[in-house]
Amino acid sequence: MKLLLTVSACLLSLSLCCQTGDARVLVIGIDGTRPDCLEAADTPSLDALIADGIYSPDALNNDITYSGPGWSAMLCGVWSDAHGVTSNNFVGSDFDGFPSFMRRLELENPDLNTHSICHWSPINDYILGEVVDEAINAPTDAAVRDAAVSILDNGDPHAVFLHFDDVDINGHGYGFNATVPQYIGAIETTDGYVADVMAALTDRPDYAQENWLILVSTDHGGIGFNHGGTSIEEETMFFLASGNAVEPAVLLKDTLDILPAPENCVAPGSAELRFEGSGDAVVIEDSPALQLGVNQDFTLEVRIRTQATSDVAIIGNKDWNTGLNPGFVFSFEYPNGPAWKVNIADGNERADANGASGVADGQWHTLSCSFDRDGMMRLYTDGVFSAEEDISAVGDIDVGSGWFFGSDILEAYSYTGALSEVRFWHGVLSEEAISAWHCSSLDASHPNWESLQGHWALTEGAGLEVSNSTGSGLVGTVQGAEWNQPEGIITFDYSNTPRIVDVAVTALDHMCLTLEPDWNLTGISWVDGCSTTDVARLDRSTIKTTLYPNPGTDQFQITGLSPNATIEVFDPAGRPVHSAQPGSSTHTVPHTAGRGVYLIRIVDGEQRRTLRWIRH
Ligand SMILES: [Zn+2]
Repeated sequence: MKLLLTVSACLLSLSLCCQTGDARVLVIGIDGTRPDCLEAADTPSLDALIADGIYSPDALNNDITYSGPGWSAMLCGVWSDAHGVTSNNFVGSDFDGFPSFMRRLELENPDLNTHSICHWSPINDYILGEVVDEAINAPTDAAVRDAAVSILDNGDPHAVFLHFDDVDINGHGYGFNATVPQYIGAIETTDGYVADVMAALTDRPDYAQENWLILVSTDHGGIGFNHGGTSIEEETMFFLASGNAVEPAVLLKDTLDILPAPENCVAPGSAELRFEGSGDAVVIEDSPALQLGVNQDFTLEVRIRTQATSDVAIIGNKDWNTGLNPGFVFSFEYPNGPAWKVNIADGNERADANGASGVADGQWHTLSCSFDRDGMMRLYTDGVFSAEEDISAVGDIDVGSGWFFGSDILEAYSYTGALSEVRFWHGVLSEEAISAWHCSSLDASHPNWESLQGHWALTEGAGLEVSNSTGSGLVGTVQGAEWNQPEGIITFDYSNTPRIVDVAVTALDHMCLTLEPDWNLTGISWVDGCSTTDVARLDRSTIKTTLYPNPGTDQFQITGLSPNATIEVFDPAGRPVHSAQPGSSTHTVPHTAGRGVYLIRIVDGEQRRTLRWIRH
């Protein structure tokens, strides 16, 4: 009864998808082949298969990158947590629970002719030898080619697995790298064997009626002279599915360029000018436009990011050796803060007032001060009023030495930190205007726009000139201070590229086996075979879920997942740091992994989704 049901299901599938026909599959495994090296090598035969196939140079074996676990995953369609192989001695294997695709083909239809020819004998000894109709352990890659050609010339094979080993051997001997001639040479030699095998296949008398799928892949990459670790060089592999029924496509990882987390008042990714003391400064040469005399009301603003509260000159026009010297300066309360302060003097009279404490916390803060020359100077910290002081007794504050950002006019009292957004207005800005604009970029809708005399954003990012956006001269010169461009984080998203476990499932789908849920296959099919849930009809990113809080600190919640879904969390360096079934929807990420962009990979049956979570 069960057999009858299976047969009718298969007939139904045949009538639906029409492309299976006399389905046959050739799986070519090339051990230890890095896709970037495959790209570097001259491989006309594989290139022809790629041109007719679905190809990904960004496929992954992101499990154990040794040959035993790798070939087990490829041939069985499950990861090591299921097939049980964790090293090349195959201890712990469960090929009864998770059979190879060859065994599933033989179980479904013993009349299929199955062959496995391997240079690395453990594949036959442990996985395929007792399963297929013919298993050959070949002493060389050339012997693998010879046996394959003979079977294709003379036999009636339905499923063939070939294993070539020389690429891996040369990687171990000379290095897994595109600059290594022996390694590249081995790839090119293997391509020649593939050419011979493909010639034998396409020369078959009934080739036109036979529906061949050719799958080519590798078990792992390599780095230096080895593999077995979790570097991307070891985990990246290629996946190729080629044949008459395949829609050609190239599947690439997504590259995400993520800017640094936004900072208070500063656009993410903005360049900043760093002052490291020792006279580092921006100098605005003296000009009539800088003169303030006895009566000119004015307002000054600057954004600072610092962790020091010493007696420095942040911006000013005076010799800061004594507060009585003529001129103005933004500084810190003598001798070491914690409040920031403003001093103004004419040589005889001085006035001083403190702003808020807490601005030297390494974050951006805006310091503003309006000077009503026959009244008060008023200090604002991040747009909030801090203090005021009578300055009506202070007379002429012009010095004639220009203005300095980051030191006083003698290049002393040097500031350590970053500065930006220096604004110089004529007139007294209102509390409302200062509050509303302290954290914004300037534009003509500012109520005092017409009174803006100088605006140095200090975001040039390079060079020794800082421009004044009002266009009225007053260009600054950078002395010693250095530009710092915050680096974005490049993250790669492999959500939609194949995995090594997809090889077996793609083969089974092409061969029109019904993929039973209780087989617990992890891979998915990349061809339009008989399965109704292959990738041609299934977006891997269909899991609907919510992740919060994002950004977060130690924990995130994830909702909407089925109880069978698994979650893997990768830190910004790509290392797995957490994995779980959802059960509890709360996940805690260890602190050692640091800040940055985490990838959260969710697998739920054949559906996958990768989410990004920012830890700050
Ligand atoms: Zn290997």
